[in-house]
Amino acid sequence: MRYDSKSLNQLIGELSKLPGIGRRTAQRLAFHILSLKDSEAQALAEAILEAKQTMRYCSECGNLTDVDPCAICSDKSRDDKVICVVESARDVASMERLREFRGRYHVLHGTISPLDGVGPEDINLKSLITRLAQEPVEEIILATNPNIEGEATAMYIARLIKPSGIKVTRIAHGIPVGGDLEYTDEATLSKAMEGRREL
Ligand SMILES: [Zn+2]
Repeated sequence: MRYDSKSLNQLIGELSKLPGIGRRTAQRLAFHILSLKDSEAQALAEAILEAKQTMRYCSECGNLTDVDPCAICSDKSRDDKVICVVESARDVASMERLREFRGRYHVLHGTISPLDGVGPEDINLKSLITRLAQEPVEEIILATNPNIEGEATAMYIARLIKPSGIKVTRIAHGIPVGGDLEYTDEATLSKAMEGRREL
């Protein structure tokens, strides 16, 4: 279905670029937005711009934050000895929903994927090695996703860190192969953390 209105088409076009939003949903959202009061539409637009302008990556762990270092890095009550390595800031949010892990995080912003031309130097890995030299870390939990890239990345990091004598573990049971941390329910994710094995 095409619309003559340029601005409506533009709105639908932008919304349909969002993940999980097909053309039909984008149309529904666009019509909903147009039915909002001016002040509501304004608030939505401003929230997007403000988040985009104020949110950045934590200079220590790479998590998404509006203060640097992020709230987790600056929380003195958290355990300095354990770092959970994840692929994205969304995974930090998933882990935090568990309210079980009290260590710190390191966000890689991706995985090593030679087929896509992504090497170890293209992800946020160097700063992890720097942290290990500066912080009293005793265990690294590799919580990358259980797919080919996630496994390869975990193995690469394990090989890199093991010579330093730091314990390296990998989350294990429960998460289906090819699964995604972000879409894993809390009980399963909790079990995966519990059942982590040493690499
Ligand atoms: Zn941080």
